[in-house]
Amino acid sequence: KLGNATAKAELGRATWKYFHTVMARFPEKPTEDQQEALRSYIHLFARLYPCGECAEHFQQHLTKYPPQVSSRKVAAGWGCFIHNEVNAMLEKPEFDCSKLGAYYDCGCAEDEEAEGE
Ligand code: FAD
Repeated sequence: KLGNATAKAELGRATWKYFHTVMARFPEKPTEDQQEALRSYIHLFARLYPCGECAEHFQQHLTKYPPQVSSRKVAAGWGCFIHNEVNAMLEKPEFDCSKLGAYYDCGCAEDEEAEGE
């Protein structure tokens, strides 16, 4: 049950892992269409997040800090920043965004090689 604090935290951890991995895999030089896809995705993600209270807070964060989608680096940096906003709200320590690097490596490097062909 999502009203349970442990379940809520578990959902959060799984979701953040996925969320940051999406950013880490976003194209380095996205097309307009890819940028619009990520922007829409983030807004829908926020609307549909299963913990209602979290969804409400996160939508407020998005209004204040709209998604930055011009490149992989920018999107990953924005994702780290917005997670830190949630960390601050929950009185959790700030994550050092300069350490993002290979933190969210999904083991999908072969996709990238294929893209380069
Ligand atoms: P988490 O915050 O889940 O982070 C998991 C791991 O990600 C960390 O251990 C660390 O390795 C890494 N990490 C930490 N910060 C960053 C960062 N800035 N960038 C990249 N990686 C990082 N819970 C509530 O109680 N109330 C809410 O309103 C709420 N809103 C949420 C909104 C969203 C969109 C999401 C995804 C979750 C929300 N949560 C909320 C859950 C909360 O953010 C945590 O996921 C949960 O409390 C578990 O925290 P944790 O300490 O295990 O680490």
